[in-house]
Amino acid sequence: MEMTLARGNRPVLLLLGTLAIACSACQRSNEPVATDAPPVADAVTLVHGGHFYTFDEANTVVDAGAMAFSSNGEILAIGEVEPMRKRFTNARQIDLDGRAVLPGLIDSHGHLFGLAVSLSQANLVGTASKAEVVERLQAFAVDLQPDEWLLGRGWDQNDWPEQEFPSRTDLDAAFPERPVWLRRIDGHAAWGNSMALAQADRDLAGAWQPQGGMIHRDAGGEPTGIFIDQAMGLVDGAVPPPSDELVDGALDLAVDTLVSLGLTGVHDPGVGRGIIERYRRKIAAGRLPVRVYAMADGPGATLDWLCSNGPLEDVSGFLVARSVKLYADGALGSRGAALLADYRDDPGNRGLLFSSDEDLEAQMQRALSCGLQLGIHAIGDRANRQVLDAFEHLLPQYPGNPGRHRIEHAQILDPADIERFAALGVIAAMQPTHATSDMYWAGERLGPDRLGGAYAWRSLLQQGARLAFGSDFPVEEVNPLLGIHAAITRQDLEGWPPGGWLPTERLDRAQAIRAFTLDAAFAAFMEHEVGSLEVGKRADFIVLERDVMKVPAEQIPGVRVLQTWVDGRRVYER
Ligand SMILES: [Zn+2]
Repeated sequence: MEMTLARGNRPVLLLLGTLAIACSACQRSNEPVATDAPPVADAVTLVHGGHFYTFDEANTVVDAGAMAFSSNGEILAIGEVEPMRKRFTNARQIDLDGRAVLPGLIDSHGHLFGLAVSLSQANLVGTASKAEVVERLQAFAVDLQPDEWLLGRGWDQNDWPEQEFPSRTDLDAAFPERPVWLRRIDGHAAWGNSMALAQADRDLAGAWQPQGGMIHRDAGGEPTGIFIDQAMGLVDGAVPPPSDELVDGALDLAVDTLVSLGLTGVHDPGVGRGIIERYRRKIAAGRLPVRVYAMADGPGATLDWLCSNGPLEDVSGFLVARSVKLYADGALGSRGAALLADYRDDPGNRGLLFSSDEDLEAQMQRALSCGLQLGIHAIGDRANRQVLDAFEHLLPQYPGNPGRHRIEHAQILDPADIERFAALGVIAAMQPTHATSDMYWAGERLGPDRLGGAYAWRSLLQQGARLAFGSDFPVEEVNPLLGIHAAITRQDLEGWPPGGWLPTERLDRAQAIRAFTLDAAFAAFMEHEVGSLEVGKRADFIVLERDVMKVPAEQIPGVRVLQTWVDGRRVYER
């Protein structure tokens, strides 16, 4: 059963039957509340015989433990098996067979909607050459209409022999008639063929460049087909939106992927109101089994909407929007990250700041004055400094704002800026697999003497900052165990480099998992609901085939998730 109640002046969905109601999120309403709500069943579930890593503040571990939770998904007790069995004699019992149990993992920077879209496009991840890109595109195009756009994502010129940006002519021979438009793996560059360029919003001829972006041009001034950051919008605007059915089906596939990998929550950075409404429809249909923390897409209409209506907290407990994602710069791989000194492999280039200090602060002030959280993308050391300076300047002016602001990525920091995260209360929302993806070439971009604050997880923790970990999927793979592995080894899956890349920044397992659980929950103001297994919290947990706190580190990526539970419901079983 489903109905709409008014809360304030905006509708919220109240779901009965399909999803339990987290009543800590309920508020009084002027509208009549349903009087035919079914009585809450007193059925209790007891999962027992597991090895429980609670990740509470004391990191309590219960060997041969049990956990009881109510039918509405609230944890009632955790303890030794026998006393728990006596206490909950009538409970539905589930034997965990000695497996390790962890709180549900939370990806604090995963593009859920982006994953859905990428699942509906040609997958170019892992291509070893431009020829392989064309082959995959040709196979994908078989199902398309003759004039339909061919969209793809995931190419990375660093994986190809020549390690250079491709050009439109690489695509024109195979696709003379059809527009082709392909996102780079990091989402910060796109590659189009001549047909795609011909449909750009503006005549590309001349020497002009857009603000915060770059059109690559050849010696004659012609666009090569590569567009960096804000320049991508020139062609993006011409791409027809995917059909509703396509996106809807892909979103189901995306959330199924998440729960199969042990994710019970995701912070989706940079989504518009339309996507938020789409998530609401999925909740209404009982098809959103992960908790989504939606971060609005910049200083536009979605921010205005949140400002006029206040933060959105769906009573289901599965959708919260109270945060805004802004951008300070681009990415390191495409040399769009703003650096304090030149790129070592591109003298004269220091990357791109998206906005002047004044413009960035104006954007931030809009969100701060509305009581919203900021999550600001900053990768280069110059961008991180710009954002930290802005926080330092602005935060004292908004004492009523609840804070917990975040820098998304925080990849390259000047060592002098590391301590400023803790001092300003800014959360470092980082992605461990970015380090192990970038370690092959980050030194070429920066030079060895500028790596002191690169992907500096341990330094940030030691200087008192809080880490919230994620993957940035679909830029990286969804599997959070890959992130935990990267965080504790700083090695790739082949064990390279021996001892780990910049190994002083490795974390221990508990630190890495905390950043994927309780501290990720904190970064979304959800630490009283989820992120650890404690009485009164939601029963979001996973059961693992093997114990990731004990197996050799190199085996962690291969550990399989056997069960995923959200709100006391089993949403995945292997
Ligand atoms: Zn991202």
